[in-house]
Amino acid sequence: MIIVLLGAPGAGKGTQAKRLVEKRGFGHVSTGDLLRDAVSRGTELGRRADEYMKGGRLVPDEIVLGLVEELFEAGTSADIILDGFPRTVPQAEGLDALLSKHETAVDCVVFIDITVDEAIRRLSSRVSCSDCGAVYNLMWKPPATDGVCDVCGGELTRRSDDEPEAIERRFTEYHAATKPLTDYYRSRGILRAVDTSLTSEEIQSEIDGILDGGCGCGTRETG
Ligand SMILES: [Zn+2]
Repeated sequence: MIIVLLGAPGAGKGTQAKRLVEKRGFGHVSTGDLLRDAVSRGTELGRRADEYMKGGRLVPDEIVLGLVEELFEAGTSADIILDGFPRTVPQAEGLDALLSKHETAVDCVVFIDITVDEAIRRLSSRVSCSDCGAVYNLMWKPPATDGVCDVCGGELTRRSDDEPEAIERRFTEYHAATKPLTDYYRSRGILRAVDTSLTSEEIQSEIDGILDGGCGCGTRETG
């Protein structure tokens, strides 16, 4: 089973990916890992990707797709989650073409969505230590003393990225960029949206239900 995992900022995609790997034995494929691995092995694609990354530029689709292709050629585990890829419709089309060569296809696209208010509530509660970098969350991992790092006693501050206005901007940008992709998968009948007003456990059981029900059957259409 090949799953694409999409998640808005603050939706807890990383947590769910980790759980699918640990509890359900999925192989985890992230673009970041593929790139780092190819660069460290010094492969042809890795060397080319490295030039883009060193220049602070986005690695072109063609290289990213090439890395995914190498993965399938090497023979990958039966169940995988693609995390952070595809990001765009051209990447999704490239992925479909590549998978069909290997006589397989994306089975299911799980989109963990969240409201902007919830994203702000979750992300703006993140603070970190200005001295040692330890990260806290005022909602579920608060420091013992308000504003003071448990590890080193340093001052806890909120990154400018995690100010509500910045979160709202990031969120709006994510949705604008992701909409063509979710439309693409919705039109293929394999997009399943998960409601994240639910708790992390409820999200887990909803994803389990989707995967156990055979996602591509088209019996459950979501907006
Ligand atoms: Zn500290």
